[in-house]
Amino acid sequence: MDSAATRSSSQTIQQFEQFVIPNYRRYPISLVRGEGSYVWDAEGKRYLDLFPGWGCNILGHCPPRVVKAIQDQVTRLIHIPNTWYTEAQGDFAEMLSTRGFGKAFFCNSGAEANEAAIKLARLHARDGRYKVISFENSFHGRTFATVTATAQPKYHEGLGPLLAGFRYAQHNDLESVEKLLDRETCAILIEPVQGEGGINIPSDGFLQGLRKLADENGCLLIFDEVQTCMGRTGTWFGYQQFGVQPDVMTLAKGVAGGVAAGAMLCKNEFAPDLRPGMHASTFGGNPLAMAAGIATIQTIEEDGLLANCQAMSDRFRAHLEKLKSELPIITELRIKGMMVGIELSIPSTPAVAKCMERGLLINATHDTVIRLLPALNVTPEQVDEACEILATVVREMAKEQ
Ligand SMILES: *Cc1c(COP(=O)(O)O)cnc(C)c1O
Repeated sequence: MDSAATRSSSQTIQQFEQFVIPNYRRYPISLVRGEGSYVWDAEGKRYLDLFPGWGCNILGHCPPRVVKAIQDQVTRLIHIPNTWYTEAQGDFAEMLSTRGFGKAFFCNSGAEANEAAIKLARLHARDGRYKVISFENSFHGRTFATVTATAQPKYHEGLGPLLAGFRYAQHNDLESVEKLLDRETCAILIEPVQGEGGINIPSDGFLQGLRKLADENGCLLIFDEVQTCMGRTGTWFGYQQFGVQPDVMTLAKGVAGGVAAGAMLCKNEFAPDLRPGMHASTFGGNPLAMAAGIATIQTIEEDGLLANCQAMSDRFRAHLEKLKSELPIITELRIKGMMVGIELSIPSTPAVAKCMERGLLINATHDTVIRLLPALNVTPEQVDEACEILATVVREMAKEQ
């Protein structure tokens, strides 16, 4: 048993069966502690985690400066409602704005950040515009508005009627957007790199084209940067990879180094549209999350992690290109910073258990894609080790065909 465990994985699983709603498929392992890109289960087995916290742990598990910032903050103020000012919220908003743009509204999750953006777009449109265009294979969250914006039928089953006013265009297809745009469209909503949809990178000129269409048609361009923020792609925000600035961007996942937090940033001119009384979040911008977010930005900067992100990205690419030329079941590599997608010609799900057996945590998404969202501070040795395990596993899968 691991020193941090008080009971075995199977005991915890039994407790879940009795008391926790079974809305998640879980691996039969209880995790008890983590450090950087490593995590330990109750039985004391160590895993190399290349999907730490579903992408939320942008600095890996328990990054020391984030831990320290939370410890310092927790003894002074834990929560303050938004009817008062706090230094921490102002500081974090300034740090996000100076690395991105505009003004911030804080909340606690990605879905909530996107809700705020959708509300802002409708509030901004004083001429009755209400339609939002999103994209096939997108993922924007699980609340009613954001699951409606999520253009994947599997997420809609049994939930109808969905929110009115959402239209779905094809990714990387400007014509399909043009066809949907009309005088009732208030926003175009897109992930700069689609995450859950399989790490889909926009083709050259696509985001520029959306910018142009949004301007010509008088609607807002919203980038869902929930997965791509905080250096994930090698720049602070995903939009900076493509040279296209949105009017609004939403952040969550890594934004506070693994602490629950979300934010929406909009250009200054749109900020007054979210007027007092129209939107709120009780826990939004709480001092603990803000302190964690500030420490996350400081760590990325002090440790040169944007550069490390790019270097490790190149290292993954070199390893995986070699593997791709060896194994025809790898049909495509889609890599942007610490977003790594490996498209297979066969289902990718079996890779997860096979890697786990060998001490590596990864993710499978969109049926046939192996997805990694490694921490920005992953080391060359860890990349090499992970790619070796992945190679063994994918070779084995190819043989089983
Ligand atoms: C994870 C994710 C969301 C949803 O975030 P939650 O915090 O689970 O609500 C929204 N958009 C994108 C792009 C995501 O990756």
